[in-house]
Amino acid sequence: VIEIRNLHKAYGSLEVIKGVDITAHKGDVVSLIGSSGSGKSTLLRCCNLLEDSQQGEILFKGEPVHWKGTGHNRRPADAKQVLRIRTNLSMVFQQFNLWAHMTILQNVMEAPVTVLGRDRAEAEQAARSYLDKVGIGDKCDAYPAQLSGGQQQRAAIARALCMEPEALLFDEPTSALDPELEQEVVRVIQSLAQEGRTMLIVTHDMKMASDVSDHVVFLHKGLIEEQGTPETLFGAPKSERLQGFLKSTV
Ligand code: ATP
Ligand code: MG
Repeated sequence: VIEIRNLHKAYGSLEVIKGVDITAHKGDVVSLIGSSGSGKSTLLRCCNLLEDSQQGEILFKGEPVHWKGTGHNRRPADAKQVLRIRTNLSMVFQQFNLWAHMTILQNVMEAPVTVLGRDRAEAEQAARSYLDKVGIGDKCDAYPAQLSGGQQQRAAIARALCMEPEALLFDEPTSALDPELEQEVVRVIQSLAQEGRTMLIVTHDMKMASDVSDHVVFLHKGLIEEQGTPETLFGAPKSERLQGFLKSTV
């Protein structure tokens, strides 16, 4: 579903991604781990074209992103393609980013109605069923501020699912949560993994990465330092940097 080849990204003269390849086939769960500043969020944002990149290819379902210009002037050439890719790669952020003035139900239905042009009644039905699925079907009429952090994050996941995306992108979905609330979000992500959703997950939670991933990528200063199955990466890390990183996260 998502393929990145030799991606390079710099903010001005600061090189953040220095030639990275990542592939997530349909049904794959790929986790990105690495120290703060290693480029994980940037890479995720490049995937759904929230950030420009200067070099390399991004393919969505085998279809390469069309670019115009080169280097720092490179931009996606086709606005329709950008919209198609972005609506198909739903992002869930660390800070749930729910609209405070809308109820949970309205939050989840909004984009399907306004972006995808879905019928309101249909969108509402879908929204209610996704809210049930993440375990907060009883919170439809509440406002975000009336929910716990874990419930808000589950609402944000329902909102992403309601777009019926090809893949979900998570940026530290549990790191704003207290440990006891973290688990309820991890369980939702686990159930999504079990139903074969394609997901790219940036996380500090090594246990979750180990439990849900098919493939784990360790980024260091904008390059892939090591990657593999969770068993080999966590069980038998080769690189000293990864060994040090794993020790520091326990
Ligand atoms: P963390 O674990 O702290 O979230 P990260 O791996 O997600 O870190 P990024 O947010 O991708 O790291 O940042 C990578 C580098 O890019 C950092 O050095 C950061 O300061 C820089 N950076 C990120 N966003 C911007 C921006 N909008 N403008 C300039 N520099 C940025
Ligand atoms: Mg980040």
